[in-house]
Amino acid sequence: MIAENFKEITKSLPPQATLIAVSKKQPDEGIEEALCVGHRVYGENRVQEACERWKERRQQYGDDLELHLIGPLQSNKAAEAVAIFDVIHTLDRPKIAKALAKEMQKQERDLPCFIQVNIGEEDQKSGVMPADLHDFYEYCSEECGLNIIGLMCIPPIDEPAALYFALLKKMAARLGVPSLSMGMSGDYEKAVALGATHIRVGSALFGARG
Ligand SMILES: *Cc1c(COP(=O)(O)O)cnc(C)c1O
Repeated sequence: MIAENFKEITKSLPPQATLIAVSKKQPDEGIEEALCVGHRVYGENRVQEACERWKERRQQYGDDLELHLIGPLQSNKAAEAVAIFDVIHTLDRPKIAKALAKEMQKQERDLPCFIQVNIGEEDQKSGVMPADLHDFYEYCSEECGLNIIGLMCIPPIDEPAALYFALLKKMAARLGVPSLSMGMSGDYEKAVALGATHIRVGSALFGARG
């Protein structure tokens, strides 16, 4: 069934859209099935869980495997995050930017990063506020030397996502960054239509999380 889900979703994707299979909290059999059909791009939202699940598989699949951090990061986990992940989607404050930059230098790894934008300006959500985006982008790229490739957002639930996707796209264009990490199981088609380059899909591929 998972194999069919992959086929169904990938067949409708344009070439610029990368499907990140969100494997957080999914049973191992599901991951094995996805690896079996040849999928190599996965997303995890916790550093610890990512290490447990992917460290050995990393040896097995090598550089073929691409792991994306899509959850909040604490600065004391920066070293582990830089070691296991290939792309960071959740850069949202100076302390994290600094910690990541320092670790990347130390480990001689240069991970592409997305800045997470709190697109709905919600109190409980992570992400940089739209008004602070420009300054934060300059801080990350110029002061810290991070490779910022784009913006990421999670729109408010129970509101039409398309509006927020379009807004994120506009913000990225204004900054001059090419990539857009937006769209999940419920709204990835809309996100792709609005220019998403990275969609983060979990339950539509693997089923509901345990
Ligand atoms: C869990 C998660 C997803 C995947 O959600 P689904 O609705 O299962 O597709 C995508 N993005 C982020 C940031 C997540 O935490």
